[in-house]
Amino acid sequence: MIERDETKYRLESRLAQIGSIQEPNTGAVNFPIYQSTAFRHPRLGQSTGFDYIRTKNPTRQVLEDAAAALESGDAGFACSSGMAALQTIFTLFSQGDHLIVSLDLYGGTYRLLERILSRFGITASYVDTNDMDALESVRTPSTKAVIIETPTNPLMMITDIEKVSAWAKTHGLLTVVDNTLLTPFFQRPLELGADIIIHSATKYLGGHNDVLAGLIVTKGKELSEQMAFLHNSIGAVLSPSDSYQLMRGMKTLAIRMERHEYNAERVARWLTEHPSIVAVFHPALEDHPSYDIQRRQSSGNTGIFSFRVKDARYVDPILRHLKLIAFAESLGGVESLMTYPAVQTHADIPQEIRDQVGVDDRLLRFSVGIEHVDDIIADLEQALEAAHREVEGEQ
Ligand SMILES: *Cc1c(COP(=O)(O)O)cnc(C)c1O
Repeated sequence: MIERDETKYRLESRLAQIGSIQEPNTGAVNFPIYQSTAFRHPRLGQSTGFDYIRTKNPTRQVLEDAAAALESGDAGFACSSGMAALQTIFTLFSQGDHLIVSLDLYGGTYRLLERILSRFGITASYVDTNDMDALESVRTPSTKAVIIETPTNPLMMITDIEKVSAWAKTHGLLTVVDNTLLTPFFQRPLELGADIIIHSATKYLGGHNDVLAGLIVTKGKELSEQMAFLHNSIGAVLSPSDSYQLMRGMKTLAIRMERHEYNAERVARWLTEHPSIVAVFHPALEDHPSYDIQRRQSSGNTGIFSFRVKDARYVDPILRHLKLIAFAESLGGVESLMTYPAVQTHADIPQEIRDQVGVDDRLLRFSVGIEHVDDIIADLEQALEAAHREVEGEQ
């Protein structure tokens, strides 16, 4: 087996080479799928390091080690979905514990906290995690962690990870960051003081809208051992074939993210000039409230952003007339997808919170794919034009 120090290589090289030297028997440059649930013990009291699939599987292990290294963490855990990863993390907490959570939150995380964990006596307060006074005002002696999404989806609000995790540390709280939107290619929150990373790997890491997966990365020996215990005990782990599929996607993460970033910024700037659009929420735009923090803590921008049309009556015809861009939920894949957060991804979030963050009935979220940017813009242009004709024709 080749000995090399992966940390010497840049992220692009490490991504492309995931699993490329871990199979010494054949030299396979793609680590194989070990489709085995059980592993022979050499003799009583001995193990190859693999005993039973839920605890450890060689294919999953290569993925988990890669995830930990990419995020500058100590241990990685591959889960059957992003929600499974969140649920596994939340079982660190017990009855009576309180969490502080980003206000503009992924709908599924809100639903898990409010409809399920609340039944087990775990409560949450939702605040703008950039507002230090708001953080302090909801903190109680039972508070155990701050859960941050940055950027948030769909309004792309950025939290200052370094500032919040330093505050959390002084109060003995864990900082958990959902890094789904930027991926370790653009942002590594553990280097900024966070303790736990969660990913919906279904999105950019997988990148091809073809695999459901979640990842957890932890920092520190004690937390990593605790998470290993929970991951195995709960059992919401990723299968060997899906682990392979995810690594297959991750190998091209760097070039995909660069194209997503380029396309999204071009499309966002084009939309700011369009007469049917009243607002564009993209952190690369100079008027975005989080422009400075984003530039400081991340090396690039994600491929999703949202925009507000001038009249809610435009929404239906726009979505109906799109041809290249698909009207579909999810994000982060090579294909461009557009969704309507108020009735889809954010339907589980109460109206009052949606109003507070600005997810209204005129907001559309766009996950810009890696198609040619001119084709994406042309598709949007014809859909906006058709919508304009339909709506103005009604009057
Ligand atoms: C999709 C998503 C999740 C949930 O992940 P699944 O893989 O769909 O279970 C969690 N957080 C964010 C930010 C997401 O976009």
